[in-house]
Amino acid sequence: MFDNLSDKLDKALHVLKGHGSITEVNVAETLKEVRRALLDADVNFKIAKDFTNRVKEKALGQNVLTSLKPSQLMVKIVKDELTELMGGDAAGINLSASPSVILMSGLQGSGKTTFSGKLANYLKSKKSKKPLLVACDVYRPAAINQLHVVGEQIGVEVYSEEGNMDPVVIATNAIAHAKQNGHNVVIVDTAGRLAVDEEMMTEIANIHSAIQPQETLFVVDSMTGQDAVNTAKAFNDRLNFDGVILTKLDGDTRGGAAISIKSVVNKPIKFIGTGEKMDAIDVFYPERMADRILGMGDVVSLVERAQEQFDEEEARKLQKKIAKNQFGFDDFLKQIQQVKKMGNMKDLIGMIPGAGKAMKDVDIDDDAFKHVEAIIHSMTPEERTSPTLINGSRKKRIAKGSGTSVQQVNQLLKQFDQMAKMMKMMQGGGGRKMMQMMNK
Ligand code: GDP
Repeated sequence: MFDNLSDKLDKALHVLKGHGSITEVNVAETLKEVRRALLDADVNFKIAKDFTNRVKEKALGQNVLTSLKPSQLMVKIVKDELTELMGGDAAGINLSASPSVILMSGLQGSGKTTFSGKLANYLKSKKSKKPLLVACDVYRPAAINQLHVVGEQIGVEVYSEEGNMDPVVIATNAIAHAKQNGHNVVIVDTAGRLAVDEEMMTEIANIHSAIQPQETLFVVDSMTGQDAVNTAKAFNDRLNFDGVILTKLDGDTRGGAAISIKSVVNKPIKFIGTGEKMDAIDVFYPERMADRILGMGDVVSLVERAQEQFDEEEARKLQKKIAKNQFGFDDFLKQIQQVKKMGNMKDLIGMIPGAGKAMKDVDIDDDAFKHVEAIIHSMTPEERTSPTLINGSRKKRIAKGSGTSVQQVNQLLKQFDQMAKMMKMMQGGGGRKMMQMMNK
């Protein structure tokens, strides 16, 4: 996410390293690079210019008031301004009505249907809501099917009316259906077009005035940069929407839309989409995003994700097993699966301060654990609980079964052994012993 921008800002801010104080000259030099980085990220020229002007004013004004080094001061000011530009505080969604109606708008391909599913899944699993998804894209039967597939996947009911070509009627009927069936959130997915056109705008405006949604959300593909901003403006002029959803951030190396959109339409970014799967959705926190752009990581989100996957009961069971030396490959597999549920690996690593930059050229993908899982799956239940059983011929069998080599099997067994020892020491309060072992 935003790798190119992060790189360029890092280089720009590096200019001040080693300077004892902030001067008109070195600030100008740094900010020229910052502005170039923003323009390369597809941030609108005026926004980039205003941004650097504000940073300059603050930097020269605060210079004498702080004990921070010039480079640190500049990073802080840039971070504060980026946060402000992206919206300041996080904005929630309004779910006070019952049912709360959420209308989705945006161009075709922006990720509306996928996001409708993600939002329903999020509200169901994290906010204990009972959502209803509504298919109002009457022109593309494939879109209606797609929503049904999504609904089935996440266990959320989908409302559609075969043969009915009037989205206003469908949406209105869906709300009545929701009231009758105890749904407290209704998410209406609408038809998009490839570009902004009058017919689409009229249609969505009609749906909007008929159903009076609590939230109108505009979904946009973040990779389209300034186009995303222009489309947002066109939709906002017509719909006066409540918030923006930026999708496909996982593929966006530049970040121009994330940075500019708020200041152009003056509406907050509420959620982001970070992948094709149903759980690839995050609340948008401007400050955390600024931290990530500046390579400072996002420990808060990382801890939150870990907590979401953390099950106290499971953890207690695990602790007992470790204490009794019963930690086996099945437990190991469970741990891997939990880590995987936290999100894609590249994204997670990007949240560790400094790590994103250090590991940006390392090719890490979601298949990072594929071999390990295959090897464990090829073991018998006995071998998983008592790995010492695994002798030479068993290793050969496991390697063959998992499509790996004996060397890879050996490597995993060794790592597992070391990990088990380490866990045992931590259990025994032997932090010191562990340090000794690590220093060996
Ligand atoms: P719609 O026409 O606006 O309803 O768009 P879709 O929901 O059908 O999405 C278009 C394509 O973008 C699909 O292939 C989705 O899988 C993909 N997509 C949607 N959101 C994301 C995202 O956050 N990240 C990635 N990588 N792909 C996404």
